[in-house]
Amino acid sequence: MGSSPSTIPSTPAPTPAGIDQCPRRVCLQYLKSLHLNRQYFNRRYNKCYCPIHYESSGPNILTVAGSDFTVPIGWSLFAIHVDKGFATNNKIFRNWYTTFYGTSHDKLDDIIHNRFIPFPGDDLLSGKKFVVNLPDQRHIYTSPSINYASLEHVCPINKVTINNVSYDFQVVLQCKQNPTHIKKIGSNKPNICPHLPSTTIQWKTDQRASVVPISLLIRAKKSENI
Ligand SMILES: [Zn+2]
Repeated sequence: MGSSPSTIPSTPAPTPAGIDQCPRRVCLQYLKSLHLNRQYFNRRYNKCYCPIHYESSGPNILTVAGSDFTVPIGWSLFAIHVDKGFATNNKIFRNWYTTFYGTSHDKLDDIIHNRFIPFPGDDLLSGKKFVVNLPDQRHIYTSPSINYASLEHVCPINKVTINNVSYDFQVVLQCKQNPTHIKKIGSNKPNICPHLPSTTIQWKTDQRASVVPISLLIRAKKSENI
């Protein structure tokens, strides 16, 4: 409420995303249109990784708990409140890996409300079942790469018109993940991520309560047509 949108330079450089200024405001409008509970979010840690707000000389990769993950360059980050007791007891910000979970906008409320990434078939607090369209229904799949996590088969495009401009939106949850019981496997899609090896880009776990969403990442690209 009364949030002051980032000041946008009057002549920003064009970006590869096809948005000629910081997409933060558009992403925020999209987020509002999803009608998620505002109490989920912690604006204190919001961040924008657009070319205006994230310097091109900045790193592409960061390391936490000895594990590399991609900086979500080009995405807008909306921080999620994490249960303090759980975070402290498990030292998740120091000892857990950072991973990404691609999903669709219609699943966000159920996932964030759940506080952990659910398993396929889980009964949700909303009364629905959690549906994931992957052949393997016994694991949660994540990736240390935002590029891999945002592949469209798990992270579909949502076309939305805002201020008469059509955008392709995608949503990914940045997570803290318990390092135990992670199986790292390769992908049959080579060269998806220029920063992390494709031989270990897909992670899966069968551990409950081991993947905690800490941020919602939104990417807006101007639609190619219409
Ligand atoms: Zn920005």
